[in-house]
Amino acid sequence: MIIIVNKIEKIKTPLEQWIKIKINSGKDSLDPAELSLYQLKKIQEVIDYAGKESTFYRKHLKGFTVRDISSIEDFRGIPFIDESDIRNHGGQMLCVSQDEINRVVTLDSSGTTGVPKRIFFTSDDQELTLDFFRHGMSVLTNHGDRVLILLPCELPGSVGDLLASSIERLGALPVKHGVVTSVHKVLAKIEQERINVIVGIPVQLLALARFHEAAGGSYAGIERILLSTDNVPLSIMNALQQIFGCEVFNHYGMTEMGLGGGVDCRSHGGYHLREADLYFEIIDPDTGEPVPDGEYGEVVFTTLTRRGMPLIRYRTGDISRFIPGMCGCGTVLRRMDYIRGRISANIKISDVHYLKLSELDEKIFAIPGVVDFSVNFRRENPSRLAIAVRSVKNEIKAGIITDEIKIIPGIEEQVKAGKLELSVNSSLSDSSYIPAAGKRIIHLI
Ligand SMILES: [Zn+2]
Repeated sequence: MIIIVNKIEKIKTPLEQWIKIKINSGKDSLDPAELSLYQLKKIQEVIDYAGKESTFYRKHLKGFTVRDISSIEDFRGIPFIDESDIRNHGGQMLCVSQDEINRVVTLDSSGTTGVPKRIFFTSDDQELTLDFFRHGMSVLTNHGDRVLILLPCELPGSVGDLLASSIERLGALPVKHGVVTSVHKVLAKIEQERINVIVGIPVQLLALARFHEAAGGSYAGIERILLSTDNVPLSIMNALQQIFGCEVFNHYGMTEMGLGGGVDCRSHGGYHLREADLYFEIIDPDTGEPVPDGEYGEVVFTTLTRRGMPLIRYRTGDISRFIPGMCGCGTVLRRMDYIRGRISANIKISDVHYLKLSELDEKIFAIPGVVDFSVNFRRENPSRLAIAVRSVKNEIKAGIITDEIKIIPGIEEQVKAGKLELSVNSSLSDSSYIPAAGKRIIHLI
């Protein structure tokens, strides 16, 4: 008699072993209690350090010293900071002299004040990021892989540059390109360089995939894709898997985090986090209180090891949750769910309903052929929601898009009540069209 054993191979996230080494654990395997103790000790250190070395934190932490923080509950008494603090007081958050700053990243000036965010890193801070990238990339990069980097990589210390160094350390070949500016050129490069792994921005990779498909592309060498940004629609992940026939991974990161924050494992059930360098919380955005595991709230993090510009209880504006239960990969590390959009990206369409950009992402990007869309919302009586969709090859009938959008809770109800006018415009794009690297902008007029 032959017994067939259905063996499912579990590949544990390499971040567990990495974190075990980083926290100097002498145990055989990572103990979550030991990690919690390490994080508390690092929190105490950063409060002591920032309170002494930075003029901003000296004021901000007033009343709190390391002696006041003997538990995470104590730590929760420290006020949050947000992006307006970085815009207005970023320079005063520095804990080292300007001479020790190796890289400054200036982020958009789209805030209400028009003042850009500037994030400062020492070379030690950058080495920590490189080390995280190396171990995070080992989830999906093997020796000999040829990895195309479609992220900014021109400047030394830029995300793509650090990623390339980490890929080299894994014995794979990084092919630096930068963000996509020509779909044709990138598709040609993928074939010429026999690329089998791609790292890039979700909407740009979706455009590559759709144009590749529309042109009847035959290259089938792509095995793995890493999407790097905050919010990745499942609809884009599914489209990439289907079109390229590859495995899709997600990285959660932002410059404020030191570029890297977490990456999923081969079980693809949420991000495992960079917990030796960052302490994450999920809070109720209205009350500031922690929410129970499983419930959605705003992601907040504290840097545990950064020297140049520590961030203590930084509110990201991103929405996620800690997923209860163990990951399929068998690690003791917890998981954060894929980011479900930003708090600021919600439009109030009725007394009880908010339209989330993430809901539009899921509905519209799931329609075959779509490469991008934009949204305009005008608050009038009735309010007007105008959506312009771009697609490849065959123009998509506006009715198909409208039907999908009406599934979103609240939309059809408001339309029927005469309180919302929905208009959909569908147009064709040729391959010279490049989706913006940022988010699809909602114009609130
Ligand atoms: Zn896992």
